Amino acid sequence: MKAWTVLFDIDGTIMTSSHAGTNAMAQTAKELFNVDKIAPLKVHGRCDRGILTDLLNSLGVSYDQHHQEFCRRYYRNLPESLERNEGRLLPGVHALLQRLHATDNVALGLLTGNLKKAAQIKLQYVGVDHFFTFGGYGDHSPDRNVVAAQAVESAKAALQDSFCSKKVWVLGDTPNDIRCARSIEAKVVAVETGGGTSQELRAAKPDLLLPNLENCQVWIDSLSS
Ligand SMILES: [Mg+2]
Repeated sequence: MKAWTVLFDIDGTIMTSSHAGTNAMAQTAKELFNVDKIAPLKVHGRCDRGILTDLLNSLGVSYDQHHQEFCRRYYRNLPESLERNEGRLLPGVHALLQRLHATDNVALGLLTGNLKKAAQIKLQYVGVDHFFTFGGYGDHSPDRNVVAAQAVESAKAALQDSFCSKKVWVLGDTPNDIRCARSIEAKVVAVETGGGTSQELRAAKPDLLLPNLENCQVWIDSLSS
């Protein structure tokens, strides 16, 4: 049987960290450029590549010249920021991941705007990194649709003949997650645990809209086909 590919967003879907990422970016900016405060950053549903470009532009410094050193320090600052901001799994996520991981015809991957290394740090922090073996990340493009295409390529490489482009679900918390899922012709579960309001999410027409991932038995059952 062809596998279902289930692609998870991270922030607001798997975990909440009350801006641990942006706080770690602000701390990194302070260390590197001696600025006490950074301009407010739009982060929900966006890719780190775009967020970092905006941040470095707002500081008047070149992305090409500084992003490597910035990221190196950001990765070092992130664990402490997760600790300080009480990063934690959202309701129902651990049980859902365990359940899906144990299901033969389901493969778990990531579709996240996080830089790959930052995604690993965040998932390790909340103890669920081992569930994911492939994914698309926000390192190279500010466009989430590009990340979605990368996630599909990564799933194809991992699953080979078991991959089926018509059997892909995306789980996310913002209208951008829903839009990028449509760009790869995936179905979408939207959850109201992150950056999108119920109204915004409904307007973006997900296949399923849930308050959180605690009670999704009906959806899990649908994956047995
Ligand atoms: Mg999110």
